[in-house]
Amino acid sequence: MSSAQASQPEQDAVIIGGGFYGAAIAVYLAKQRGFKRILLVEREAALMTRASYNNQARVHNGYHYPRSFTTAYRSRVNLPRFVQDWPQVVKQDFTKLYAIARRNSKVTAKQFERFCRDIGADLKPADPALRDLFEPRLIEEVFLVEEYAFDTTRLAAWAARELAESGVQIRYQTRVTSISRGAAVPLQVVTQTSLGEEALTTCRYVFNCTYSGLNQFAGDFAGVSTGLKQEITEMALMQMPESLEGLGVTVMDGPFFSLMPFPARGLHTLSHVRYTPHLHWNDEKGLDPYEKLRLYERDSRVDRMVRDVGRYIPEVLKAQHKDSLFEVKTILVKNEGDDGRPILFEKHAELPGCFSVLGGKIDNIYDVLEKLDTESFSHQGQ
Ligand SMILES: Cc1cc2nc3c(=O)[nH]c(=O)nc-3n(C[C@H](O)[C@H](O)[C@H](O)COP(=O)(O)OP(=O)(O)OC[C@H]3O[C@@H](n4cnc5c(N)ncnc54)[C@H](O)[C@@H]3O)c2cc1C
Repeated sequence: MSSAQASQPEQDAVIIGGGFYGAAIAVYLAKQRGFKRILLVEREAALMTRASYNNQARVHNGYHYPRSFTTAYRSRVNLPRFVQDWPQVVKQDFTKLYAIARRNSKVTAKQFERFCRDIGADLKPADPALRDLFEPRLIEEVFLVEEYAFDTTRLAAWAARELAESGVQIRYQTRVTSISRGAAVPLQVVTQTSLGEEALTTCRYVFNCTYSGLNQFAGDFAGVSTGLKQEITEMALMQMPESLEGLGVTVMDGPFFSLMPFPARGLHTLSHVRYTPHLHWNDEKGLDPYEKLRLYERDSRVDRMVRDVGRYIPEVLKAQHKDSLFEVKTILVKNEGDDGRPILFEKHAELPGCFSVLGGKIDNIYDVLEKLDTESFSHQGQ
């Protein structure tokens, strides 16, 4: 055996994290870039059970981001592509309203209209019957918009099917604990099963798609250079009264709320800018966000959410609380003020071949794939 053969890594790529991003990147590498040996490592027992399941399920179309033109504009570009590529996942058969609060809103109805015109997003005044759902002393204007929801379970079914078809090997209930440079191979990762069994895998590339866990690796991994903020969030899952069942509502732009269909459970999520974030901290190596959530007592704040939302939409007081989704939400520190959701895409100088990716929202997958399109991967043609 020649020394070149002796130093062949076991895998072309190890993908860490079986959320939407890890799965979609694995499928892209296999189908578009000719990677033959891909190993995906996921600490949970199934694909897409973390942020890719526990979210508001909104396919953004720009409306949500009057303070971040770039994110609004990218949403406008990416939504039609997402709808085209995942038609089975996107729910369109509901009425979506954006309402502007009279007090404490960072935009007025006029400013919101102008902003929607600037980004080319459809908007019209809602019918009187829909307006009647809102308390007019608190709501300045109600608009009918075009925004959709996605079914996280169907997205997970897509991922499972595509990964199997692409020959991607998956190790569940296994964590990557360390990423290092290898002596004779580019990279090596240490994995640990839930039973504590450790193994070492060598590879040419590592794609760190771990969302909240992005910085939690030992070895030569120095962490991402972009500051991350972690939040423990609660979204209440509600059975809405008939009057609100076919609706999604977002009240802008400040300490307000959203109710959105959650197709995976046939319920609505209720989230509130003031009550959904329970706890937050700046991310640091060694402070495992998953562990922090596991130990968190999870006292629901649904009562406070409903009480406040009921002032604006009295019908919400008739909704029934069925469950709550608790999850760690990871955002870039630099977007705390403007709510923007750009991607994080970093190549690690200390670990050539290692990439860290955080999508921020589901449709940003196209921004990530565009970045990957510009990379030349050295396994190709071998
Ligand atoms: C409360 C909330 C609301 C949101 N609302 C929306 C919305 O309405 N619309 C929208 O587009 N986006 C929304 N988002 C953002 C969206 O959910 C994320 O952008 C997206 O799901 C991220 O996908 P991901 O694959 O990066 O993360 P995840 O789905 O979390 O996947 C990361 C995976 O990595 C695994 N993992 C972590 N560490 C390790 C390790 N060391 N070894 C092995 N596996 C590991 C985890 O178990 C997890 O499965 C929301 C997020 C939250 C939390």
